Amino acid sequence: MADDFYRIYEQIGKYRDNIIELQRLLTSIPALAPENAGDGEMKKANALKEFLKKTGFPNPKEFNAPDKRVPDGIRPNLVYNINGHDTSKTIWIMSHTDVVPPGDLSRWNGDPFTLRIEGDRIYGRGVEDNQHGLVSSVFAVRPFLDLKIKPLYNIGLLFVADEEVGSHYGIGYILEKHNLFKKDDIIIVPDSGDPSGKDIEIAEKSIAWLKVETTGKQCHASRPDQGVNAFAAAAKLAAKVHAMYNIFDYQDELFNPPSSTFEPTKKEANVPNINTIPGDDVFYIDCRVLPKYKLSEIDSMLRKWADEIEKTENVKIRISPVQRAEAAPPTSETAPVVDLLKRAIRQVYKVEAKVVGIGGGTVAALFRRKGYPVAVWSRIQETAHQPNEYTDIPFIIGDARVFAHIFLGA
Ligand SMILES: [Zn+2]
Repeated sequence: MADDFYRIYEQIGKYRDNIIELQRLLTSIPALAPENAGDGEMKKANALKEFLKKTGFPNPKEFNAPDKRVPDGIRPNLVYNINGHDTSKTIWIMSHTDVVPPGDLSRWNGDPFTLRIEGDRIYGRGVEDNQHGLVSSVFAVRPFLDLKIKPLYNIGLLFVADEEVGSHYGIGYILEKHNLFKKDDIIIVPDSGDPSGKDIEIAEKSIAWLKVETTGKQCHASRPDQGVNAFAAAAKLAAKVHAMYNIFDYQDELFNPPSSTFEPTKKEANVPNINTIPGDDVFYIDCRVLPKYKLSEIDSMLRKWADEIEKTENVKIRISPVQRAEAAPPTSETAPVVDLLKRAIRQVYKVEAKVVGIGGGTVAALFRRKGYPVAVWSRIQETAHQPNEYTDIPFIIGDARVFAHIFLGA
């Protein structure tokens, strides 16, 4: 086994040009969701299928989700299975083919959909999110095919659609309609991480984005007696939001920061001129709440304050959710997936990994709600969704070695 790992480790180091080739191919096909005025992931999935076929991968199974909004009428979800010595369980690696739009093109130093290479660094929309994970998983499997080494357990590579816009046509669809996973399977989602490669994400906070609409009465600023200042009333509520830190003050060192967070954020424009008292006001609150608390507790506290302000300021305050997701049950720190990752990371990167929680909202929650203990891990520079998104080839090679270590059961 140790010998096999050494051979595989060396082999992955030889794939640098192939890694660039696959990254270039994937980057050249913008896979945007219809919500982002795109035609979906079909072209990119087909290119990936062709590439994998040429390099000896078996044919995939397809779990395509119907979606009338895209030209092909489906959103592609591909599954590649390789049998191991022991077929009782599968090591899964899931990545997504869709990308987010490039945003303001003037902030890019080149075409976002043409791969750019500077030394070990490659640039382009999607190279990190999520082609880093996707390409690592491909080149973790490739040496098993090239060297004809059988993995210990089955390998499952999953390339899904629609991660960036909610996963309804991607892993959400698969989890609802198909029965791919067994309870003992190991599931890794390389779609978040840090530059040290030490953070294994196993938990997330609940998330609530709230819209606060305050209604008073507009009037001339010289005659406040004739109106009701909605902005002044809303500001009282906004100023109270930070008091939540003292009320919901539980700390969990798994998370960074270890507390729940409550922040007034976006403020919509009200009146355009200085000499009018605004009759309407809209601002937003971003809450990231430790799984210990229910989001309904946050709602009630805010509502209580809003009721008080309605009375004293003579306004109406409406609070509504823009986004709301209760945290999924965390993956246990002692789950096998955590242990396997820690051992592989130690072997490849010579660092001690640790479990962490994050501020909320990854696709892992969909698995965790179904009772699958998923870990989210990769070694990345954290440039997802930014202009000039980039990733480093040595980290793709390293992450492929980490996954191969787990496949081999080394
Ligand atoms: Zn992603």
